[in-house]
Amino acid sequence: MPATDPALLLWNGDLAAELGIGAERPDHPGAGRLWTGTALLEGSVPIALAYAGHQFGQPVPRLGDGRAVVLGQLADRAGQRHDLQLKGSGPTPFSRGGDGRAALGPVLREFVVSEAMHALGIPTTRALAAATTGETIDRQFGPEPGAVLTRVASSHLRFGSFEYFAHRGDTAGLRCLADTAIDWHYPALRSQPAPMRYLALLRAVMERTAALVNEWLRVGFIHGVMNTDNMTLSGETLDYGPCAFMDHFRPDRVYSAVDRAGRYAWNQQPRMAHWNLARLAECLLPLLDEDDNAAVDAAEAVLGEYAHRFAIGHNHMLARKLGLADAEDDPGCSGEAESDLGERLLAFMARHEADFTNTWQLLMKAPPDDCQQILRVREWFDQDDDLDAWMAEYAGRVRALGIDEAARVRHMTAANPAIIPRNHRVEMALEAARGGDLAPIRRLIDALRTPYRSPAGFPELTLPPEPREIVPATFCGT
Ligand code: AMP
Ligand code: MG
Repeated sequence: MPATDPALLLWNGDLAAELGIGAERPDHPGAGRLWTGTALLEGSVPIALAYAGHQFGQPVPRLGDGRAVVLGQLADRAGQRHDLQLKGSGPTPFSRGGDGRAALGPVLREFVVSEAMHALGIPTTRALAAATTGETIDRQFGPEPGAVLTRVASSHLRFGSFEYFAHRGDTAGLRCLADTAIDWHYPALRSQPAPMRYLALLRAVMERTAALVNEWLRVGFIHGVMNTDNMTLSGETLDYGPCAFMDHFRPDRVYSAVDRAGRYAWNQQPRMAHWNLARLAECLLPLLDEDDNAAVDAAEAVLGEYAHRFAIGHNHMLARKLGLADAEDDPGCSGEAESDLGERLLAFMARHEADFTNTWQLLMKAPPDDCQQILRVREWFDQDDDLDAWMAEYAGRVRALGIDEAARVRHMTAANPAIIPRNHRVEMALEAARGGDLAPIRRLIDALRTPYRSPAGFPELTLPPEPREIVPATFCGT
């Protein structure tokens, strides 16, 4: 759909270079037109994808790209395939009652947060460009500038893509989709014969999904809308609507204004991922066995592995956060004792609503045998007496594993971000951008490129919000 006054606001030069995109750079006179979908990239045949999904537990047989189009796929310098998608470029056959557009705030928000996610080393879609259309669109809190995000994903295949064909009873379509998913995301499975190949696909998606959720938990991320249409076959984080990174820790933290029941709270995410995988498994049943009961048994066996698979990843993740394991799988550390220490620390954090990010930073800077430092940690937890025993056990575990202080700090540095896109910081940057000042958002994006390093120039980015700065709720903005 043509934009009246297209202008490019943000451009991800690093990603463009990886993708080998040159001629459409920001200094190109037609850049604004290209990245709003007003002009088309050469060779592009835009399509809106059909998909279904379970939204907050309810099946919806037809959703689809209501405000997005895939421009096409391109190969990066390493030969890896990527979808290029415009989000907010106008109505499509799937728009239903919507206007097909996106507002500036949510577009910039997805840009900041998805790029931060990538820099944290967590699988995610990326943001290549953000452009304004020159139009004003109506949203919940009044008129907003219209904008378009150019999103890059290894594909836009969702659990909901499978649900679409399953609802229609289209087994041939499902088979084609499953083979495409294998081809694009799990090429090692190509040579397996059917139906084993499809069971292997389910297991592979289950493993990547469990790993992804563990990564979200590691950095205090709450996706907010884990509907099956927002879950990818690739294991990438998709759709940054009302998502948020947590400041003060509460395991049942929810930000999304529409998630009143807390279905997608921080600590519900592992369970909801499993629930979503069960919906995907249901779609795959006709591919697994001609006999319905045998197909159900096979799918249930894979789903039954999820808890164990998740727990192994979770133990290891907590061990890494405590500095007790390497970023790589550490054979010397089973993770169970470490995980128990981690869970107990989380319980202290919850009791004191401690800042999720900074608690780990504080612990990292406190050598467990140094009394002064232990006192600092104690002060952080309001002199909680129970903490002494925990600190002693932690020190004992560090010693037992033969981890010297340099290694402990190295492990913790790799697992614990110094900065995250804190809600209040993101909102401040968006507010400035709405007023025409892009400097704060550029600074934020820049600092978040190296999240495991304290940002020397911007100490404010490490601070939790003051009470008056707290952003308690987030919105889809759709
Ligand atoms: P989301 O909550 O962003 O995952 O979107 C859920 C569904 O609503 C998808 O099918 C979207 O394409 C559709 N949708 C969201 N916003 C709009 C909009 N402004 N116009 C049309 N469809 C939309
Ligand atoms: Mg979505």
